[in-house]
Amino acid sequence: MATFGTLSSRLTDTFKNLRTKGKLSAADVDGTVREIRRALLEADVSLDVVKDFTGKVRERALGDEVNRALNPAQQVVQIVNEELVEVLGGDQRRLQFAKNPPTVIMLAGLQGAGKTTLAGKLAKWLKGQGHTPLLVACDLQRPNAVTQLGVVAEQAGVAIFAPEPGNGVGNPVKVAKQGVAEARAKQYDFVIIDTAGRLGVDAEMMQQASDIRKATNPDEVLFVIDSLIGQDAVATAQAFQEGVDFTGVVLTKLDGDQRGGAALSIRGVTGRPILFASTGEGLDDFEQFHPDRMASRILD
Ligand code: GDP
Repeated sequence: MATFGTLSSRLTDTFKNLRTKGKLSAADVDGTVREIRRALLEADVSLDVVKDFTGKVRERALGDEVNRALNPAQQVVQIVNEELVEVLGGDQRRLQFAKNPPTVIMLAGLQGAGKTTLAGKLAKWLKGQGHTPLLVACDLQRPNAVTQLGVVAEQAGVAIFAPEPGNGVGNPVKVAKQGVAEARAKQYDFVIIDTAGRLGVDAEMMQQASDIRKATNPDEVLFVIDSLIGQDAVATAQAFQEGVDFTGVVLTKLDGDQRGGAALSIRGVTGRPILFASTGEGLDDFEQFHPDRMASRILD
């Protein structure tokens, strides 16, 4: 099945109708743009992003590039493809590495977003490239979180730094700093800090994340978001942007997302790139996010 199946089939149907036409009238273009607009709104894409997207598609579809095209319908599909790539992040940067290792990556997001799982995926992916990541367990809120990170570390075959009983227990900022110091001392070249989330945005959680950020000065702060929450992702992302000023986004649970609302909204709303996608519960269900490939998969 194509990525974001429901959205994908809506768009494909729209283009099927268009393909029966030769030259396109302004009414044809408007009809198509209306269909695209409806498809995106049903996919739970943020209204501002939808307006911007359809405005650009309409302007280009009424312009010369379509008028002069041998196959105008095909040209419109091409324009939608290009605008999808743009809204997903265009030609974006990859993960930033520190000049002087270790590269410190902090994960932030709501409880259940998939942070702990992602820590393992990221670590395994980095290990596969010859790096030596150290996982640091700073989610001291959820009773099982440290144990869960230990399991994930073992599956990924990487090291973990967790608070010793009596030393830093209950103080995630202290654990984060100790973890980075441990990485420096033992020459791990990446540190991945797992932090505590809550079920909803919460001032205490945000303060803690912000304190960990200040204490460890990460090269990347990755905001981990469950794509299944659709447009609610936007409000959550804005709260985290204000609270911790993240540098990149990781979309999780893309495997279950038929609509794509979060994926298509988040870059436009936060201005931050989606760097990775998580596509299942297994540690290998993980990929770098490529806007062009994602757009092709939507229009497949
Ligand atoms: P955390 O609270 O943010 O640390 O979230 P967890 O890493 O504990 O993940 C919450 C649940 O989501 C777990 O049951 C994971 O197995 C599951 N999960 C995480 N990522 C994905 C994903 O990409 N796809 C699916 N289907 N499940 C996922």
